[in-house]
Amino acid sequence: MDMKRNYEYLLSDLSLVKGVGTKTSNLLKRKKVNTIFDLLWKLPKSYTDRSLSSKIKDLKIDEIQTITVIPLKYSFPRVRNLPNRVLCKDDTGEIDCVFFNSYEGYIKKILPIGKEVTISGKIKYFRNKYQLTNPKYISEDSSIIKQKHNSYSLTEGISEKVYNKIILQIINNLPEIEEWHSKDILKKFKNIGWNDSIKKLHEPENIGKFKENFYQRLAYDEIFSTFLVNSEIRKKIKRIKKTKKNFNIKKQNEVISKLNFSLTNDQNKTLSEINKDLCSENKMFRLLQGDVGSGKTIVSLLSAFNTINSGFQVAVMAPTEILARQHFLLAKKLFSRNIKIELISGKSSYKDKKVILNKLSSKQIDIIFGTHALFQKKVEFKKLGLIIIDEQHKFGVNQRKRLSDKAGKDCDVLLMTATPIPRTLTMTIYGDMDLSIIREKPNIRKPVKTYSKPENKIDDVIKFIKKEIKLGNQIFWVCPLIEESKKLDHSSAVKKSEYLNKLFPKQVFLLHGKTTTEEKEMILNKFLKNEFKILVSTTIIEVGIDFPNANVIIIENANKFGLSQLHQLRGRVGRGSKESSCILMFKSNLSDNAKKRINILKDSNDGFRISEEDMKLRGFGDILGFKQSGIKNFKLADPVHNYDLFILAEKEIKRIENNNEDISKFKPLIKLYDRADIINDIA
Ligand code: ADP
Ligand code: MG
Repeated sequence: MDMKRNYEYLLSDLSLVKGVGTKTSNLLKRKKVNTIFDLLWKLPKSYTDRSLSSKIKDLKIDEIQTITVIPLKYSFPRVRNLPNRVLCKDDTGEIDCVFFNSYEGYIKKILPIGKEVTISGKIKYFRNKYQLTNPKYISEDSSIIKQKHNSYSLTEGISEKVYNKIILQIINNLPEIEEWHSKDILKKFKNIGWNDSIKKLHEPENIGKFKENFYQRLAYDEIFSTFLVNSEIRKKIKRIKKTKKNFNIKKQNEVISKLNFSLTNDQNKTLSEINKDLCSENKMFRLLQGDVGSGKTIVSLLSAFNTINSGFQVAVMAPTEILARQHFLLAKKLFSRNIKIELISGKSSYKDKKVILNKLSSKQIDIIFGTHALFQKKVEFKKLGLIIIDEQHKFGVNQRKRLSDKAGKDCDVLLMTATPIPRTLTMTIYGDMDLSIIREKPNIRKPVKTYSKPENKIDDVIKFIKKEIKLGNQIFWVCPLIEESKKLDHSSAVKKSEYLNKLFPKQVFLLHGKTTTEEKEMILNKFLKNEFKILVSTTIIEVGIDFPNANVIIIENANKFGLSQLHQLRGRVGRGSKESSCILMFKSNLSDNAKKRINILKDSNDGFRISEEDMKLRGFGDILGFKQSGIKNFKLADPVHNYDLFILAEKEIKRIENNNEDISKFKPLIKLYDRADIINDIA
């Protein structure tokens, strides 16, 4: 097979490129550039125009210029520290080319006496003569020099000239690639093909032309391939046939009727989406997405209840023991006695654990709560029908898929996240799952009043807390995060808790990065039982735990946090029926941008909207949880600026899904765009 004619050529090792030896390819590998394809995304940052040439008498000092000259005379002094020189001339004057650390043989080769040579470089003037020091652009073929030369943010050890040569060679040898997009899609990009787009991408005149069709097409390719892989995973999981769940909805409604609130419309809607999946013969792989406090727990427990009533077991995994216990206690309260509920904890003794494991494998337990320990090898279920994972935003696509595989074919999977994200990211991050979204919050919840205060007004804040504590309320105090130094974080939190402890003796506990898990659980438990009033912390307090009695959160140095993060922190309060407040503290005068951000928070309590605004203000890389999610960054596409491309790709994927279109023509696209690991699993 002629590799050059096939897209696979692009995936081959860089050493296949002429002029790339082991040294160069190792340097590039260190920068994660392994294949020819990888190199295509190292874009020129700027360019130098060397196309116009000048006569010596018209040269401008300190500017990069191009001249065509004839070498006249060498002077090689052979004394250390004295440079070699070549005197050159044209019909208007003379110029010295000066070389430090260059061999005579090399100089004689590039500047042969009497031949016409074109040189480009920065012109200097020294001892009444023009001078060019260590010129790098020299050739007898003037066309090689007289053009625009791209500059890249260079890998150390590789010169611009070598780099340009490599890139040029690759671009001139792009393999023929069959168009993968439909005619309709292609039309949106003025029918430009992939090869032409790549060529344009590297043309110096096109630097920064993000709106042009070539750039948009390539960005779209990236988005589309990500969505396509996600869609394939989703389809593949859905094709798995399982035993349908079969339960009596009346029993579910009895549990609902015993609640001291009624479900919101969105809770009802998402619950029936899940129920429909449970009763279908296809495996469920669903994400329940809803802001903090939107009431996801009850929805998940009701689906657990239905699963149990179909004769299956359920496993509920929470990120912390405290949260697992909270869910466990709620289930005990809600479910009838004949349902066997268990909690497995890191603290359970070996003997207790063994008993629990035995009971699980003989189906004497219907539902078990725990942390990730639940998914250890030893844990075996007799008839697992549903896995529920709370606050899962730390899982990436591959991890989720593995989880679903491990659960077995009859087991449905429900994941939950309290991190609302912008729409453009939803398909990117969660496109492998079906989505149920709770947008509306229980209306008993009063919005958290949000204030901003400069740090020097701390006395006002203290007065405010005193009043709240008198009313029996509890307070979160989040200390500034100083990213540069964990030590400083720690000492400032220690100082703050000492300061507060003087004002409120025995009422203050501190959580910081070094607190052990056990200590942390102990402190959080005390706080939950209202045994002290103020919880100071640097680390972000666990998401999801209900502290109904805490209704004030103070966030110091609030501009260190992103909006979504502030919103999440604020979500720790306002869970009971009391009025609650969030006080954002700042060091000094706020910038306009910071004021804008604060106002968004004051205005809105809608995590989805806040995440959109956050992304607009800060770019998508910084959005909470995104960095840890394992999703690689796009090379060109940007969820803020290419909103329309994300929507277009989403529509196209739906169309392909609905028409059940053969996707084999997209194979090169997927392989090129680095999702081969996933597609191998699918094929
Ligand atoms: P999250 O979605 O953050 O996990 P939770 O499920 O913990 O939210 O619910 C937060 C609080 O709201 C809980 O105390 C819960 O009992 C309460 N809650 C849930 N649904 C409703 C509702 N429909 N009406 C009133 N309160 C509700
Ligand atoms: Mg929760």
